[in-house]
Amino acid sequence: MSEGSAEDAAEKVALLESLRGDVGKVMGAPLPARDEVNQAMIRHWSDAMEDFNPCYIDADFAAKSIHGEIVAPPAMLNAWGMAGLHPPASYRNRGVETYAKLDAAGYTSVVATNSEHDYARYLKLGETVHGAGRVTDVSEEKATALGTGHFVTTVTDYTTESGEVVGSMTFRILKFKPGTGRMAASADEAGPAKPRPTRPKPGISRDTKFFWDGIAQGELRIQSCECGALHHPPMVRCPKCGAYDLGWMVASGRGKVYSHVEPVHPKIPSFDYPLIVGLIELEEGTRLLSNVVDVEEEFVEIGMDVELSIQECNGVELPVFRPVRPARRETTLRFEDVEVGDRLAPCPIPITPTLIVSTAIASRDYQDVHHDRDLAIKRGSPDIFMNILTSSGLSSRYVTDWAGPEAVLKNLRIRLGVPNYPYDTMTMYGEVSDKGQVASGRGVVTLKVRGTNRMGHHLTGTIDLELPGDGA
Ligand SMILES: [Zn+2]
Repeated sequence: MSEGSAEDAAEKVALLESLRGDVGKVMGAPLPARDEVNQAMIRHWSDAMEDFNPCYIDADFAAKSIHGEIVAPPAMLNAWGMAGLHPPASYRNRGVETYAKLDAAGYTSVVATNSEHDYARYLKLGETVHGAGRVTDVSEEKATALGTGHFVTTVTDYTTESGEVVGSMTFRILKFKPGTGRMAASADEAGPAKPRPTRPKPGISRDTKFFWDGIAQGELRIQSCECGALHHPPMVRCPKCGAYDLGWMVASGRGKVYSHVEPVHPKIPSFDYPLIVGLIELEEGTRLLSNVVDVEEEFVEIGMDVELSIQECNGVELPVFRPVRPARRETTLRFEDVEVGDRLAPCPIPITPTLIVSTAIASRDYQDVHHDRDLAIKRGSPDIFMNILTSSGLSSRYVTDWAGPEAVLKNLRIRLGVPNYPYDTMTMYGEVSDKGQVASGRGVVTLKVRGTNRMGHHLTGTIDLELPGDGA
């Protein structure tokens, strides 16, 4: 039967009708989470996300904070109710068969596209979260870059045992047929990738070999002399004392941008653009000509703290530098100290397989595409990829690291674009887009955030954050 036959079309109409019949239905009775809010799961999340807000993990600090005790990271909201790896039967039969119907019709792959959390308050240790979900929308069949499929939107309300509402989540996923996307089609048509000239290799001499050997081993070496002088680039003879017998030391890899420039024309095919050339002043005092990566040029500033990242740049292993992760604020920003237009320092997050897998498991998401490369490839993805709970968790971490431990998230709304695959870097950017005073002196600021990787925007979103203020 050919694609687009009359029978085919009739089947699709029937499927959509059946799917839309599920809209508004509650997915079974409100389900209690398998475990109460507990420190072990919070710690696992905190470790995996590298979110070390002491309100989540330090009982003494939390006791003196506005929360008065340990609270769960707000972005964990739906982690508590996740079914886990071997869900009990009560989790498997939830009354609404929307996803099962799509699976049966061949839409077996899944990707989350939107997550909107609203937080009435933070959860505390020992509480049991109950979640009640319902399907609110099923789209017509759409042809997307990933594949042909339906978007399914659900809303889940979260309550405590006593029925108090603690938050809600609007969640949208795409259920699609693997291998039907434009990305898959264009890869097939393009055939083998066109050869591209590799970046010119560095000239390696007897005097500079130690430097490039170091790079191959993951370290940055600086030529040193017994008189104490350090030189870069390496020299034949110490310009200070005249010695010929020179050694080297391993640099920390940290430094500052001394100056930078962005060559734009003419573009050379062997280089990736935009290309930022930076003169880096290392902590040890020597300067090194390199590239500044994982950050947009307009955010590069003289004096910016950077760290070494050894990257394969179009066929050549090179020492390059990326901005360091901004330090976590120990004291919370005050509402009156924040202005609309304030920018958060960019935060590069290396996307390692460990990050993707550990955060997926910490959020109790056992979808194989987040931890099993072979199965991810079978489902039409080039590799494992980050799950949406982690994109939310990292967004939360980014804004609270900036605002301080007692900033309180009111909501977190993100939309996903290109996936985060291993060995890429996602750089988070943020800006204060609005301010609104609330009662008791506390105020809410709205932040626009985005996370960008080498392919484009991984996430875009907004977060409302409550800060202490005068009169609080
Ligand atoms: Zn010397």
